Amino acid sequence: MIYTGAPTELDLLPDMNALAEVVRGCSRCGLRAGCQQVVFGEGVWPAGLMCIGEGPGADEDRLGRPFVGKAGQLLDRILEVSGFDRRRNCYIANVVKCRPPGNRVPEPAERQACWPYLRAQIRLVQPKIIVLLGATALQGVIDPQARITRMRGQWIEREGILFMPTYHPAALLRDPSKKRDVWEDMKQVIHKYRELVDPNHYSPYV
Ligand code: URA
Repeated sequence: MIYTGAPTELDLLPDMNALAEVVRGCSRCGLRAGCQQVVFGEGVWPAGLMCIGEGPGADEDRLGRPFVGKAGQLLDRILEVSGFDRRRNCYIANVVKCRPPGNRVPEPAERQACWPYLRAQIRLVQPKIIVLLGATALQGVIDPQARITRMRGQWIEREGILFMPTYHPAALLRDPSKKRDVWEDMKQVIHKYRELVDPNHYSPYV
């Protein structure tokens, strides 16, 4: 498991905006040179729920915001039917903040270079629940060997945070039959959120 690590100077930063400034100036790996802009993250903090994806795609790189392309629209819809909204009650970030060329999967060294930023974001958001979207998020945050097909739908606890791995929305666009599994996973998230964060949390379908 890689969800660990001694505090760094990033933990001394006063808030999310200061952290974003540091990340925008980063050149710890080669990705920054090949992308248009840093896609730091977006949403509300502190928040009981956080979602973590893989890394920016072309639309995100162009607009500087996470999950704004087709997969992002599907993520917004999944969140909406679960009673969540990045403008109201959750925070969205990625394992890497810069678009890998051609949308390739970020390499282990690139994930490692970006990890202190994601960890600092998690510390600032203080989520009770983190939804890990897809294999890269699961492997980048919990275990490089983990398999999403095997681990989705099962809670993982690390340092008091509950992680729910599920399929990435882009995987649902390729294979809509996976939507059923994601909905099962999100139902668990909704129930746990009511238990840990807000007993009155409203979701239109659960
Ligand atoms: N896919 C991701 O994993 N993250 C984004 O921000 C967009 C697409």
